[in-house]
Amino acid sequence: MVGLGIVLICCALGILVLAVFLRRRSGLPWARVVAADTGLRRIPERPLFSARLGLTGKPDYILQHGQTLIPVEVKPNRRASQPYHSDLLQLAAYLVLLEEITGVAPPYGLLRYADETFQLRYTSAVREEVLTTLAEMRALLTATDVARSHDEVARCRGCGFRSRCDDALA
Ligand code: SF4
Repeated sequence: MVGLGIVLICCALGILVLAVFLRRRSGLPWARVVAADTGLRRIPERPLFSARLGLTGKPDYILQHGQTLIPVEVKPNRRASQPYHSDLLQLAAYLVLLEEITGVAPPYGLLRYADETFQLRYTSAVREEVLTTLAEMRALLTATDVARSHDEVARCRGCGFRSRCDDALA
């Protein structure tokens, strides 16, 4: 009986050490995970949504630190010394959504690459860039005369709009 108890304690310690190791390797802070959108865990199922902004999205994780929520976007195969602007904008959109839905502005969001974790502080400039980008995207959706944004013949060859597009290449 004593032997079984020792085995159980050893197993529990092993699991604890493994959890610490995995969390350290993830580069994420110690905080409660209140939502996850990974292959292993999905809490909750529904994405963040704001009808007022016409914006929806689902961060890979949402951490709870005290009273604040921190969105986390994970790009496990990306290696770079500086974050891509498009990734930051995606994370910024989650910050805007969380503020919109909860009424509390998150202080920052985290972008995790394979070897680095970047922090994006949620400032008024970040919020403004998201709203401006949204407005530009909406304008583009209704635009009838949009110039080609690339010089890739192969892309046009595989495009479903080629027969109707005046800008199509070769
Ligand atoms: S065919 Fe026109 S719409 Fe399609 S990729 Fe080329 S330029 Fe863009």
